[in-house]
Amino acid sequence: MTALATVTQARLLQRRTALRQSLAKGTSMHQAAAARELAETEAALARIEQGRFGRCDGCGGAIGRQRLLALPAVRLCIECTSKVHATR
Ligand SMILES: [Zn+2]
Repeated sequence: MTALATVTQARLLQRRTALRQSLAKGTSMHQAAAARELAETEAALARIEQGRFGRCDGCGGAIGRQRLLALPAVRLCIECTSKVHATR
């Protein structure tokens, strides 16, 4: 596992715990958003375990270190993200 994947995994695990607690308490004003973020966090953790961390789901290319540091659960590279938004 790369150093970046290790750091990101730790951040995602912390985030998952916080999201689960917030959902369990039912105090979040944005339960749907929290549930969605939890799903994205779980998916990102699964990708790390499967050795697919840092690969774009759209094109299979590298997502990029800075982008992963800013958005640990991100699935797409910048190019694929802009394509998705362009087609909406
Ligand atoms: Zn891509």
